[in-house]
Amino acid sequence: MIYSWSTIGHNKQLNQLEHDIHGERLSHAYLFVGPAGIGKMHIAKTLAGIIQCPNNYCRTCPICKQIEKNIHQDTIQLVDKGESIKIEEVKGLVERVNLSTQSNRKVVIIDGLERLTPEAANALLKTLEEPPSHTIIIATIHDLHATLATIVSRMRAVYFKKPTHAEIRAALAQLYPQANTETIESAVALSFGASGRARALVEDPERLSELRKEFDHIAYLYEQEGLAERIVHMGELTKAEAEEKDEKKAPVIVSKFLDTLQLFLHQKLHQFIGDEAQQLRIISHIEKAHDARQLYEKNINTRLILEHLNVNLLK
Ligand SMILES: [Zn+2]
Repeated sequence: MIYSWSTIGHNKQLNQLEHDIHGERLSHAYLFVGPAGIGKMHIAKTLAGIIQCPNNYCRTCPICKQIEKNIHQDTIQLVDKGESIKIEEVKGLVERVNLSTQSNRKVVIIDGLERLTPEAANALLKTLEEPPSHTIIIATIHDLHATLATIVSRMRAVYFKKPTHAEIRAALAQLYPQANTETIESAVALSFGASGRARALVEDPERLSELRKEFDHIAYLYEQEGLAERIVHMGELTKAEAEEKDEKKAPVIVSKFLDTLQLFLHQKLHQFIGDEAQQLRIISHIEKAHDARQLYEKNINTRLILEHLNVNLLK
């Protein structure tokens, strides 16, 4: 490959994009499809940089730096912070695209196309039907079915998969030559294929060891037949959350526990490939954990949620 994409895996997809760049057959609209945390947004930003920078995304010129900070006038990025994208924002994008500026091209990046409200999706569809000249739209999405089929059909889809553990291991060893084998192995195991998470964990050893502990603890509790130990643990979590005076830290305790529990269950699911009965049981546990998180986010009594979850996980 010619450009430095600084990503883990995805060689086939990146070769395809480079092919599009060199053959001058860039599409006016790309849709990057694939699970979260594997670098789709990073690749979208890199592609924007390659298109905009006069030196093939040198990462040092003012244009590259502006793209990096999301302040480049002709590279408009709608970063995913969890909120939905309303019609006004899509209209605003179109207005900005139509303003005349110095760049030869405009790039619009929409992270998380599933966030579009139905009205916003229709407005985007209109834009795709009559694409503004010299504009390239790059959007990411978890699942192809999460938006209008008519939008998908007007974009060039590029499918991304989770990189393998071997790919993540090799990339981490190269990126962090100073990290020891144990750290790398631990980060690989706890990344569950999300390369972004793997990197974040190597860079934050404290979080890595905390997560390792939480994970082992959940694994231990999960294997327990009896309720007693689990109730003690859930009680400790509720208490820790209630006693934490720092308002920013308090909600994180139970939330992290629920995240780790979901990671654990997904890994468990993977272990039982071929054993349908066990898989169905774990899938129902994943659903229960998901329900617990939703209730938790609605501020319903934490202790009740956890106790209820506890009983459900024994079934
Ligand atoms: Zn540059």
